[in-house]
Amino acid sequence: MFDKFREECGVFAIYGHPEAANLTYLGLYALQHRGQESCGIASSNGREIQCIKGMGHVNDLFRPEVLGRLPGDMAIGHTRYSTAGDTVAGNAQPFSVSCNKGRIAVAHNGNITNATELKKELEAEGSIFQASSDTEVILHLVARSREKTLAGALREALLQLEGAFSLVFLAEDQVIVARDRHGFRPLAMGQMELSGGHISHVFASETCAFDLIGAVYLNDVEPGEMVIIGRTGVSRERYAPVQDPAHCVFEHVYFSRPDSIVFGRPVQQSRENLGRMLAIECPAPADVVVPVPDSGVAAALGYAAESGIPFRQALIRNHYVGRTFIEPSQAIRDFGVKLKLNPIKHLLEGRSVVLVDDSIVRGTTSRKIVRMVQQAGAREVHLRISCPPTLSPCFYGVDTPTRSELIAANNTTEEIRRFVEADSLGYLSLSALRQSVDDRDMRYCYACYTGDYPTDLVNIEELIAAKKRR
Ligand code: AMP
Repeated sequence: MFDKFREECGVFAIYGHPEAANLTYLGLYALQHRGQESCGIASSNGREIQCIKGMGHVNDLFRPEVLGRLPGDMAIGHTRYSTAGDTVAGNAQPFSVSCNKGRIAVAHNGNITNATELKKELEAEGSIFQASSDTEVILHLVARSREKTLAGALREALLQLEGAFSLVFLAEDQVIVARDRHGFRPLAMGQMELSGGHISHVFASETCAFDLIGAVYLNDVEPGEMVIIGRTGVSRERYAPVQDPAHCVFEHVYFSRPDSIVFGRPVQQSRENLGRMLAIECPAPADVVVPVPDSGVAAALGYAAESGIPFRQALIRNHYVGRTFIEPSQAIRDFGVKLKLNPIKHLLEGRSVVLVDDSIVRGTTSRKIVRMVQQAGAREVHLRISCPPTLSPCFYGVDTPTRSELIAANNTTEEIRRFVEADSLGYLSLSALRQSVDDRDMRYCYACYTGDYPTDLVNIEELIAAKKRR
């Protein structure tokens, strides 16, 4: 439920709409849950690109007068909480540069696993980097390419990248989007009909962005696909050979909004299935099913429906908790958790509770929440987690910590139960997770639960060190 590990990003792009920047702002507004550290929008009027970005939430940075400085009928946008690179303003995206291919801007969701090697090569050949983000590498590869067209240079650059990327590019007169060959991170394609029958094309990490602006979801940008939209129309092409898809299952478990369709599948449906399967695999002798808001709500609904145990929203979340706050000098136990959650005592007193959350990472938050429910008078707390134990770090864009900090990588379920001080603890099995997202042909990545990474991680020590530096 907490934002402390939140390390995802959201991307948005639009072509052929007179209000491109305003709609990008709204798209980012809907994608705010994917990153709250910084945001940015680049727009083009066909001749020049303007780019405005900074720290903070979309709504804080993009006041009407700021949006007014982003003219044109095409734009891209980004909302970020870094996975690679430091958390500083210089890493806010889009990145925008002028090079021999003209002016280009790029925004990225994912993590390029060979960025360090590429950066070393580029620096040896004279490239100068301004930020510590892996995304900047792409622009240097494009600038260095001998291909004459931007699309050609991009194709060449993309083929050198490894890992996870859903990318949106803006040139003076075109929008280009691309997805890595495994399709780790989502990228949906939609359209809007304008007066006179004109069509505006839109792209977003999640379809909830389309719903807000009244766009229709068409399909996903395919893994290994590049979509180019310019004055001559739309062209879709494979820049890389088809490879085994490896969609991030954690998008369905936790990251994406439940009202989104991600990898062609409604997230809410997956989460309810997770909860139902959890009730079958890990039943509990309880009086009430209580979700940890917001991350456990859909799974708890599924658990309650399957088990017949009543669902009660007995933990209330304060949605207005900011990023900075004054901590009382006299230590209050579990102050952090109390800021965000408050129990409804009469729903918990004397009851045996099934507490449902999506995942345990370090275990510290779960322990505080279990304690909070106990202190509110619950007789028993049975913690149920709607995915398998998180055993391995993610190198594809989710900032799970290294193995040493992952409680499940170093402890048995019984040891974790003792640590979180619950009466019982149950995790969903891997096969039930697969079933819940209807993954019949292994199209998802489960590396965080299995340690089986779908790509070669050439320099895994460097990737681990980068996580530790954060
Ligand atoms: P903890 O028990 O301290 O490991 O924290 C677990 C909580 O963190 C759960 O409520 C999860 O919903 C939440 N969580 C898990 N992974 C992430 C992530 N990558 N970003 C933000 N929150 C997360």
